[in-house]
Amino acid sequence: MRLDINSINEEPITREESIKASTWGLDTHEVEFTGEINLCCEFRKIDKEILVKVSVSSLRKIRCSRCLQFTTKDLTQDFYLSYDKSKLGQFLEVDDRIREEMLLEWPMKPLCKDDCKGICPGCGKNLNLEKCTCKK
Ligand SMILES: [Zn+2]
Ligand SMILES: [Zn+2]
Repeated sequence: MRLDINSINEEPITREESIKASTWGLDTHEVEFTGEINLCCEFRKIDKEILVKVSVSSLRKIRCSRCLQFTTKDLTQDFYLSYDKSKLGQFLEVDDRIREEMLLEWPMKPLCKDDCKGICPGCGKNLNLEKCTCKK
């Protein structure tokens, strides 16, 4: 998302954009972004700064760290970015920083659900789907 900085004033303005997830190359071994990344950004000038309130939502196929199954989640992240106006040219380009934030906020051990039972170390069964007869 790119904005002419002269169009940003004290009065907040909102811009929305959908980006094809594959163009941002965010996929890792554990996470696959599917569909679109939806950005909603509110820009405003505060003194010598430009403050951007970002809300980004995306569908992600994640691999659960306990049971190793993939599940699809619709996740929304909200955060602020700020830019020093004197260091910008004519245009403000926010994509890079948003992409960074999305990577930083990703939990190290994602779960398909909070009470995921995981995989039995004895027989390898997915305990969410079936019971096993191993002794504890
Ligand atoms: Zn799981
Ligand atoms: Zn078992």
